[in-house]
Amino acid sequence: MTERQHDLVIIGAGPGGYVAAIRAAQLGLDTACVEREPRLGGTCLRVGCVPSKVLLESSEQYHELRGGNLAARGIKTEAVSLDLPAMLARKDKLVGELTDGVAGLFKKNKVTRYEGTGRLDGAGKVAVAGKDAALLSAKHVLIATGSVPASLPGIEMDGEVIGDSTTALSYAEVPRHLVVIGAGYIGLELGSVWRRLGAEVTVVEYLDRILPGTDLEIAREALKLFKRQGMQFVLKARVTGARRQEGDGKTGAVVEIEGRDPLAADRVLVAVGRKPHTDDLGLASLGIALDERGRIPVNEHFETTAAGVYAIGDVIDGPMLAHKAEEEGIACVERIVTGWGHVDRGTIPGVCYTDPEIAGVGRTEEQLTEDGTPFRKGIFFFRANSRARALDRIDGRVKILAHAQTDRILGVHMIGPRAGDLIAEAVAAMSFGASSEDLARVCHAHPTLSEAVKEAALAVAGRALHA
Ligand code: NAD
Repeated sequence: MTERQHDLVIIGAGPGGYVAAIRAAQLGLDTACVEREPRLGGTCLRVGCVPSKVLLESSEQYHELRGGNLAARGIKTEAVSLDLPAMLARKDKLVGELTDGVAGLFKKNKVTRYEGTGRLDGAGKVAVAGKDAALLSAKHVLIATGSVPASLPGIEMDGEVIGDSTTALSYAEVPRHLVVIGAGYIGLELGSVWRRLGAEVTVVEYLDRILPGTDLEIAREALKLFKRQGMQFVLKARVTGARRQEGDGKTGAVVEIEGRDPLAADRVLVAVGRKPHTDDLGLASLGIALDERGRIPVNEHFETTAAGVYAIGDVIDGPMLAHKAEEEGIACVERIVTGWGHVDRGTIPGVCYTDPEIAGVGRTEEQLTEDGTPFRKGIFFFRANSRARALDRIDGRVKILAHAQTDRILGVHMIGPRAGDLIAEAVAAMSFGASSEDLARVCHAHPTLSEAVKEAALAVAGRALHA
């Protein structure tokens, strides 16, 4: 077996691992990254954020051309039709280009790549099994193995009729009826894709609301808008099983719901969350025990209980988001090299890339009420924003929550056109400890969607100009 020595070995080349590898190499560490998949980039690039956004954009354009109010804008369209294989092929091509891009970045930064499965093998050792089998030694080992889709007892996944988000990125044809289990990010994003391409979509959700964790006022508006788009919701409904069913010469599925009639479907998307990917990592060889939710416990410097072993991203606590993993990876390696490195958990944005987009950062109104924190709230509706009107995208609002005494911004939540881009300003403001007045006094170009953020900040003090 080949034996190699590096300063840092990273297991996993998702957005957490590959970004940490690049940063570590920039800082002068001899860095290696072990990834079992031939393509770099992890779930995010291969079967998550990136391909889903390609399909969201394409399906949105198709839907707009077919059903959008284009004639009123003076645009006449004829005979718009769907070429699903071409749409899926473009997605795969883009994924290929981006994952090749990561391989190029590894080369440029002199990160050594091992294709194979990495496993901790005692202190300072990582065994790689697979194409580039080797025994690696390193002073520092970083675990960035991400997460895998969770399922439920009673759901018989076959990866075809009943599948997870990966399956739903590549249905060969538009399902007649798609049943989505779970109204979180994945269920709503991929449910939206197939709805726009023509499927009947029913989302079954255990809770009495969609998007758990999102500010409730925003989630309620989202539910109303998704219903208007023709998506059907069954809330307060616990799915207890799903199985394949053959009949009338076609294959489908039946979804069992506690206390209700079962639902028949052509396809079922199971989107009930993800779980940390820690199987067969050799954690026991270093005495690392998982917490009650299967995560690797770490301190604020991402150190596990074993000296020299760190973990970031979906395998530790916090939201399972690519950008959170990236920030943690950077902070972790910067601290190893420079002694400094920090992630502000209070300013990690969340974005759901539906239409309209839903984005938030900081505390929700429910959390502030529960804590007893006194706050003022400013709301501005996109229908009063001239750019949103020009775009014919008038649904949604921006909501800013600021401390009642200090005016410091505590949370910003929005639903509306390009909310996922607009939230960046709120994240920057909160990162600098801004007050709502600070934000309200910043000059925003006119006419832009970003003026809705300024107006919401003005609304905190009851002085929005166009409300
Ligand atoms: P999620 O946790 O966001 O939502 C899962 C939903 O399933 C919850 O609403 C839950 O109440 C429901 N559920 C659980 N058991 C159920 C049952 N028996 N019957 C009916 N409903 C049930 O999970 P997800 O949407 O699968 O996403 C997984 C992870 O991936 C999340 O952590 C998310 O942050 C991340 N993700 C993020 C993005 C993004 O940032 N845009 C996109 C996709 C995924």
